[in-house]
Amino acid sequence: MTLVTRRELLKTAGAAVVAVPVAAGSARGSGSSGSRHVAVIGAGAFGGWTAWHLARRKVRVTLFDAWGPGNSRASSGGESRVIRGIYGADEIYTRLVHESYPLWRTLERHCDEPLLKMQGLLWLCSVDDAYVQKSLPTLAKYDMAVERVDLRDARKRYPQIDFAGIEKVYFEPVAGSLKARCACQVLCRQFQKEGGSYIGQAGKPGSASGGRLTDLILSDGSRFTADVYLFACGPWLAQLFPDLLGKKITPTRQEVFYFGTPSHDRSFDEGHLPIWVDFGERLIYGIPGSDGRGFKVADDTRGSRFDPTDGDRTPSADGIQRARAFLGRRFPKLANAPLLEARVCQYENSTDGHLVLDRHPAMQNVWLLGGGSGHGFKFSPALGALASRQILGENDIEARFSIKRLDSAKQGTQFERQR
Ligand SMILES: Cc1cc2nc3c(=O)[nH]c(=O)nc-3n(C[C@H](O)[C@H](O)[C@H](O)COP(=O)(O)OP(=O)(O)OC[C@H]3O[C@@H](n4cnc5c(N)ncnc54)[C@H](O)[C@@H]3O)c2cc1C
Repeated sequence: MTLVTRRELLKTAGAAVVAVPVAAGSARGSGSSGSRHVAVIGAGAFGGWTAWHLARRKVRVTLFDAWGPGNSRASSGGESRVIRGIYGADEIYTRLVHESYPLWRTLERHCDEPLLKMQGLLWLCSVDDAYVQKSLPTLAKYDMAVERVDLRDARKRYPQIDFAGIEKVYFEPVAGSLKARCACQVLCRQFQKEGGSYIGQAGKPGSASGGRLTDLILSDGSRFTADVYLFACGPWLAQLFPDLLGKKITPTRQEVFYFGTPSHDRSFDEGHLPIWVDFGERLIYGIPGSDGRGFKVADDTRGSRFDPTDGDRTPSADGIQRARAFLGRRFPKLANAPLLEARVCQYENSTDGHLVLDRHPAMQNVWLLGGGSGHGFKFSPALGALASRQILGENDIEARFSIKRLDSAKQGTQFERQR
């Protein structure tokens, strides 16, 4: 396995953007100039990046969001998201991650602070390491490194960690964290600089005729017409298309906690400890430092069904207690660390944990993009590029992301199905 430097991996910024000649139209409603006008509903990571790619290609795009890009209800609305290349046997995601790095760096040029921090990721495997093992050929193909760390060395390198029960340790140097909410907001601004229009309203499907959606109904009661509609509404997708997706995308309640580290001990800060994934019976992960917010701890286990609009976002006593118990075991010095912040968010789980990127079966000018299933943020730049190509008719639909496959998909998360 080769160890590549981060600079080598990240040197080709902006490679995925190519211009195509599509005439621009007027700002609101469908033009008569023969131009294609795409309405993107949802300015989270998925819709935002798709809109940006389309606008870069001079396609006329109007982007809508009910509460704003990276808002606190949105799945992209948290502080930070992990980016990693290890994806078991699912090569497609490693490829999307690989393609996304230069695009994150492109966006970062428009931020005041770093958007992407390459802290590296430590995999602590106690049940088995099949997930990591299965990804090794793919990582080699994309020249992304992974290092097997002997347990004795791991104990020396990371005395903050109690390795009890851990059998294998891997370090993934090309991995890090992204500023999620901030990225969505900057992205929306850049999209507008590329000529796109943004409207802060909710949109839902209006009338349909001849197998096509005619218009959107906006939250102020007006109607909006475009030629093509992309619904990238994250956990709301199933509510907007209940017959088609009601049983195929399920939002679940997820809790994230930030614990305070001692002022005299920097060993739990970024720069001293990588991001970590505790890959045991449950999958628990964390991001040290988190820009001063604290030591982030989250359990990837799917919670109960959740309503993204009105769901109660008060953290549960049970969740806090479980996070604390875990901290005490794995990071003993943080056993009594104070809880500084907590967030309740939701995953928008597809049945099998894979994405949805497909045309609506009954409306040929409607595209659906979602099903991030707790892991979609990291590769949203490349996914947006893929979605934009599909909308422009340049790509075949990826069978794995089709809606149809969910009719017979096996239930499970992306991790569970590879054990
Ligand atoms: C706690 C947590 C931790 C996560 N950790 C990671 C991680 O470490 N790494 C990773 O890669 N991924 C992670 N994810 C997953 C990732 O954040 C999501 O998969 C991704 O952000 C989904 O983006 P989206 O654009 O599909 O959805 P959203 O971000 O929810 O965007 C949908 C947008 O649509 C808008 N909207 C909804 N309905 C309408 C409407 N009718 N009209 C107009 N606008 C509408 C909403 O306001 C929202 O802004 C995590 C998710 C959570 C919740």
